[in-house]
Amino acid sequence: NRLKEGLSKTSSKLVGGIEAIILGRKKIDDDLLEELEELFITADIGVNTTIKIIEKVKNDVSRNILKDPVELKNAIKDELIKILSIDNSLKKVDTSPFVILVVGVNGTGKTTTIAKLARMFKNNGFSVLLAAGDTFRAAAIDQLQVWGDRIGVPVVKQSEGSDSAAVIYDAVESAKARGNDIVIADTAGRLHNKFNLMNELKKIVKVLGKSVVDAPHEVLLVIDATSGQNAIEQAKRFKEDVGVTGIVLTKLDGTAKGGVIVGIVDETGIPVKFIGFGEKMDDLKPFDAKLFVDALFE
Ligand code: GDP
Repeated sequence: NRLKEGLSKTSSKLVGGIEAIILGRKKIDDDLLEELEELFITADIGVNTTIKIIEKVKNDVSRNILKDPVELKNAIKDELIKILSIDNSLKKVDTSPFVILVVGVNGTGKTTTIAKLARMFKNNGFSVLLAAGDTFRAAAIDQLQVWGDRIGVPVVKQSEGSDSAAVIYDAVESAKARGNDIVIADTAGRLHNKFNLMNELKKIVKVLGKSVVDAPHEVLLVIDATSGQNAIEQAKRFKEDVGVTGIVLTKLDGTAKGGVIVGIVDETGIPVKFIGFGEKMDDLKPFDAKLFVDALFE
């Protein structure tokens, strides 16, 4: 399947690495654990989370729960599922429209993710409206319109340079009037001048809070798995500044750095709600910890 295919590089790095380490080993000793620790760090799991997993293994070994190196693979698999299994369901609200604000730096796959989400919701029977909140670049507004036309969903937009919060607020009002179920709002993601970006995003959240539906209901941060450890830092920063409720981790295909998902969830406490693993429209799925880890370890 596409997920398993997309995860193949991360799988050979992480699971192939575990297999190589335990091969021919008779017992789980300090040497083995050191190699395992090094592997986890180079597989982008993150230092803190790596230490946590190694401590857990050590503890299980000392209590004789874990003896044979061949049991290690399954023990690590279970531990990863445990770390990744935090509640990641979308917020339940009684009002409509449901408003999803999508944030993240340019180039992470934000626009593609919005298109994939819109199509997924539409296929599930919901009526979707897109808000062109990245008013900083005319190209971003045009690109969203192209996706809207292609998927067959309306796009609310204004001219380049207009106030992003106003555009998204209008989109919510418009969706309310038309009876749309879901609004997905794009936002700017210029990397330079982060301070202004965060202020703009904060303002959007504040203005939407005054809308009839007390939006946004979800703030999804799009991050690129290929950025490895930087992804964890980005997630922490956006969480602090704009109250991210979920992560969309993109570009899991074609990278061996997919292990970063474990560090992101463990270190930030933000659930991964969707994953992107290819350029095709179907290559976005709600994140399921067990399916994901199974696909890695199969
Ligand atoms: P934005 O600047 O954040 O809006 O990024 P775009 O949505 O324009 O995406 C940037 C590039 O990343 C495009 O070429 C996308 O096709 C590509 N892309 C987005 N998501 C994925 C993914 O999950 N896997 C791969 N391989 N490419 C992706």
